[in-house]
Amino acid sequence: MNDSTISCLPQMTDIWEKTLDWKPSPQQQELFQRLYGLILEGNRQLNLTRITDPEDFWEKHLWDSLRGIKFLISVNEDERREEGKEITIIDLGTGAGFPGIPVAIAVKNCTVNLVDSTKKKITFINSILPQLNLNNLKATTCRAEEIGRQRQHREAYDIALIRAVASASACAEYALPLLKQGGLAVVYRGSLTDEETINMENAVEQLGGIIESIEKFNTPISNSDRHCLYLRKVANTPAKFPRAVGVPAQRPL
Ligand code: SAH
Repeated sequence: MNDSTISCLPQMTDIWEKTLDWKPSPQQQELFQRLYGLILEGNRQLNLTRITDPEDFWEKHLWDSLRGIKFLISVNEDERREEGKEITIIDLGTGAGFPGIPVAIAVKNCTVNLVDSTKKKITFINSILPQLNLNNLKATTCRAEEIGRQRQHREAYDIALIRAVASASACAEYALPLLKQGGLAVVYRGSLTDEETINMENAVEQLGGIIESIEKFNTPISNSDRHCLYLRKVANTPAKFPRAVGVPAQRPL
């Protein structure tokens, strides 16, 4: 498949501006388009995503990825951020690169480590990175429970992103060990029940964090429900977390 057979993504400038106080530059728009083409192409060999229609891809992969880190890209934030301060980001269970790749395209001065336990997904991402020409991204095959115990990664990140990977409390157990003190985990979810929120509060407390906020919103085209939980790391995560591979998902805190 070549580029001419791949539909154009919509621009949606008004929606970007209205909902995120941001709009992509022409270069960023081109990268989004290129990413879309590469993922559709990859989808012919691998089961990467079911979201392939251009408008759906724009909403569920691009807009949704960036809505979670709106606070990093809005115009005011750009002005406020110390010049040259680099933000280190980890995306756990990235799949075909979401939310991490759109974040690496949109956020100035960041490095993003994309992590997934499925080797073929990381192999795919590594095969497309040169074509995106982004030098602030790398991809690693690893379980979240394992990378959270590695000295060079534990307590090393400013921000951890995690979308559609596990229950809310398992996501907290994966993400919080990787954050520096003061760092923020963004847990992207569709629905969120009161029970999940209560379990999450209990889990986060054991992991050295607090729930700083929960944002509930709808996606701008299909009006689907979304929640983002923002977890702030306020104390060291005890050494026993994350527990062994499989345990956080099977026996959530
Ligand atoms: N974040 C992407 C993919 C979600 S699918 C998106 O929103 O589009 C969930 C992904 O998480 C899968 O690719 C799976 O391999 C990965 N995954 C599940 N448990 C994991 C774990 N414990 N450590 C690392 N990756 C995990």
